[in-house]
Amino acid sequence: MRRAADWAPRLIIKQCRFTVRQPTVRRFVVMKYILVTGGSRGIGRAICLRLASLGMPILINYNSNHKAANETRGLIEERGGKAELLPFDVSNESDVVSAIQKWEDEHPNDYISILVNNAGIRRDDMMFMMSDEDWHQVINTTLDGFFFLTRRLLKHMLPRNRGGRIINIASLSGLKGMPGQTNYSAAKAALIGATKALAQEVAPRNVTVNAVAPGFIETDMTKDLPEEELKRLIPLGRFGKPEEVAGIVAFLVSHEASYITGEVINVNGGLYT
Ligand code: NAP
Repeated sequence: MRRAADWAPRLIIKQCRFTVRQPTVRRFVVMKYILVTGGSRGIGRAICLRLASLGMPILINYNSNHKAANETRGLIEERGGKAELLPFDVSNESDVVSAIQKWEDEHPNDYISILVNNAGIRRDDMMFMMSDEDWHQVINTTLDGFFFLTRRLLKHMLPRNRGGRIINIASLSGLKGMPGQTNYSAAKAALIGATKALAQEVAPRNVTVNAVAPGFIETDMTKDLPEEELKRLIPLGRFGKPEEVAGIVAFLVSHEASYITGEVINVNGGLYT
């Protein structure tokens, strides 16, 4: 197929026989972005900061905590990085689709080439007492969130083998199962299964899909847990830092990890291997 630029010299010659001009070739620079869900706080914030150091612009997704998300953006900008806020509820399909569509309309030449599905919540209870709401909210945030957003963004990673990286933040709870967390363990185990299945589907299009399974990490999510008691169970004797999860995510999006897909990497201080 002929490009517009191929026609340009002839058109000019037809209009003005004696003028010789070089054809104008318009070049669009495609900018690649990184989207981190739940990037306002905790592990997501650490991932945003670590990945911003790679030089790509970061889209910080969050649900409602605008103040925290703005702080994450400020921290990235202070270090010379670029970031935009992209709030939406990952568990709500129409929110996901309209936020991404709006972003794409405003960035017609760019695409999101790295997706970190990190947003997640805990609503612990013994199963015989667990409400329908707690069951569904946890599963919907982790699993529907992964499904709605990843499906939408694959649309731009798959064509012409453009490629992409998808990192899913799972949990030790999804591998081992944790009492009091049947909803959370079910959601994270399903996310691990989906990671392995999707990795095989999209590998021929140069998209890798991996999961990271943290143990106990110091964030708002774990601040109500009995840390002194729990850390005695951890071979390394302490909770992990969000930055220790972010480092693995940075490795998985790097060129060095280009032959790794369908894997689950534990970051748990030796608690479960
Ligand atoms: P956190 O400090 O509680 O932060 C949760 C993040 O998820 C916040 O940015 C929150 O946004 C966002 N979020 C929650 N629901 C959302 C929704 N429906 N749509 C969009 N964003 C939503 O949690 P964390 O400890 O950093 O955990 C991050 C991920 O790691 C989760 O998937 C969690 O399951 C997993 N993980 C954590 C641990 C741990 O020990 N901390 C261990 C294993 C796995 P707002 O700020 O707007 O509320």
